[in-house]
Amino acid sequence: MPYKNLNSEERRESVKILYSNAISGIAISTVVSFILVFAFDLNNQKISYEKSIWLSIMVVLLAARAIDVMWFYKTKKDSPLFYADTYSKRFSTGCILTALSWCGYALWFHSTSSAIETTTTIAILSAFAGGSANLLSGSRVTAVLYSIILLAPYSFLLTFSNENYNSVLGILGLAFTAIMVASSYKSATFTHSAIKLKNQNRELLNEMENKVEQRTEEIYRLSNTDPLTNLLNRTAFLKNANRQLADNPQEPFALLFVDLDGFKQINDSLGHKVGDKVLKEIARRISNVCNQQLFKCRWGGDEFLILATYQKQAELIEFADKVLQSIGAEHETYKYQKWVSATIGIAMYPEHGSDFNTLIRSADTAMYHQKRIAKGNINIYNDSLKLIQEREYLLSQRLVSAIEENSLRLVFQPIVDSKTSKVTSFESLLRWQLDGENIFPDEFIAIAEQYGLITELGIWVIEQACIQATKLSHLQPQIAISVNVSVIQLQDPDFVSKVLKIVNRHRVEPKNLHIEITESVFAEDKLTFLTAVKALQKQGFCISIDDFGTGYSSLSSMLDIGVDIVKIDRSFIQNMDKRGLSIIHAIVQMASTLDFTVVAEGVETIEQANTLTKIGVSHLQGYYFSKPMEVGFVDAYLNEQNKQCS
Ligand code: C2E
Ligand code: CA
Ligand code: CA
Repeated sequence: MPYKNLNSEERRESVKILYSNAISGIAISTVVSFILVFAFDLNNQKISYEKSIWLSIMVVLLAARAIDVMWFYKTKKDSPLFYADTYSKRFSTGCILTALSWCGYALWFHSTSSAIETTTTIAILSAFAGGSANLLSGSRVTAVLYSIILLAPYSFLLTFSNENYNSVLGILGLAFTAIMVASSYKSATFTHSAIKLKNQNRELLNEMENKVEQRTEEIYRLSNTDPLTNLLNRTAFLKNANRQLADNPQEPFALLFVDLDGFKQINDSLGHKVGDKVLKEIARRISNVCNQQLFKCRWGGDEFLILATYQKQAELIEFADKVLQSIGAEHETYKYQKWVSATIGIAMYPEHGSDFNTLIRSADTAMYHQKRIAKGNINIYNDSLKLIQEREYLLSQRLVSAIEENSLRLVFQPIVDSKTSKVTSFESLLRWQLDGENIFPDEFIAIAEQYGLITELGIWVIEQACIQATKLSHLQPQIAISVNVSVIQLQDPDFVSKVLKIVNRHRVEPKNLHIEITESVFAEDKLTFLTAVKALQKQGFCISIDDFGTGYSSLSSMLDIGVDIVKIDRSFIQNMDKRGLSIIHAIVQMASTLDFTVVAEGVETIEQANTLTKIGVSHLQGYYFSKPMEVGFVDAYLNEQNKQCS
């Protein structure tokens, strides 16, 4: 066995060491064999027959070894077909045979050797043994055996010869054999451990490289994925998407903006932990629907983006439908009563934008507009949306300076007691005239909400309403003013304190400021809503539920907060001849049990007014009584009404 304790890599290494020294060894052996044979037989003019046989054997042997070495160099050492053990055995066999051949020479021709010949022979053999210690250090057994075979037999022979001179040479030879065996052993051991060390270092280096690679991968993963859902994050998505766009600028694709509907409700009613689970599950479902090549990311909160390639538009719609269906499908693990749905806005490249900023904005706009019309559907961006988007952007820019430019004003619409026709309050409604054009509140309020302007605007409205309330209270004490408040205003943690400051400044009693909140906010962000409403009620403000009947009926929430006023949406008044009446009936009945005031909105005819009064609706509002009026007419109107009622 040439090696012990060496693994295959180390064995290859030691074989390489053996072969790397081989050619010089073979060359020296060849030269020396010729010298030895010819130098001493030159006197006889011709070499002996025996010696020529020996020389032929030696030459054949050395030639075979030289071929073996060349063969070795031609073999790919890293190939799996390179068997280190086979080469090692072959090399060692070659070496041992060479040593035997030398030994044979010494023994065979000893009887005919002169003293000088004997001395030269033992000197040469010693020199070979000395050289082999290093040259054969790749294999310990070969190195040791080589020295022994070379020197020991001949030295023995000489030691026990009758001639003193030879005996001395023999003893010296034996002593040198012992030294060479020890030296070869040491040298091989040293090489052995050097190989091992080198290999260990390499393994260590590999291990370190692997670790560095793993860390790099980990860092890449962490910085590129959303920790909750494991989808790409914003930055990584944009990076990948931009690269794809740069690589294939000709290839059309679509960007899907997926926004969950009713996710806030889940978060609020079931807690953030469940909310997180739902997001994870949605992300998993999105990944399942998308194939591997599609980029998808969590854009933020409950928004996801998908970059989808497609051939035909029908194919794209089919894919978006699949996404909607998989998101909306019930889940067996969490049996929510209401599972989330999603609305998808789609922008297509290159029609709807040539860069990702534009495409994302377009997809977002398409999604946002779809949400306003009907949630849970798909909407592809189009030119009319583009016009809307441009107009919205323009309006949002102008709205920023609308307060300073004095282009905003409040108009007031009375709310009357149905039995006495006495005005009990006025609803303040915001108006905006921009370069001579009246912009509808439904339009600009939505823009103000979308562009984060509603908080400031809302505070201005409350301030103006309070100014009016103070003025009117001189004509009719306890008259109330109602203001419309957007759910986004309620999200401002300072909202209550800001409102409180305003009413205190204008000496308005909080109960005379009615805060109208649209019923749909119950569904959107229940927790924020409840907290703000409770805080407002604690300060004595009146809470009015606007457009009742159009949003999610959340009777339990109403019970919870004990609302003060419910305003029945005008669609029920307009449809009183159909189903409207029975619904109004039900609301009136509920009002007496839950103790809230009912206001019917959009009363346009005397018949409507009479019917509503008969049913028991206590307060009425609508064009029949008055359209919203300019601030300058309110005093006169109130005076006139009070005169008529008295
Ligand atoms: P809203 O709070 O439901 O306001 C009532 C709307 O119905 C007003 O429209 C009013 O002019 C209209 N209206 C009143 N009586 C009748 C009627 O007999 N028939 C018909 N067809 N309509 C009637 P307007 O002023 O265009 O306001 C639209 C919406 O804009 C409001 O709906 C409200 O949600 C929002 N809004 C108005 N002012 C503000 C404000 O200052 N802040 C906030 N956040 N929203 C506001
Ligand atoms: Ca209102
Ligand atoms: Ca309303």
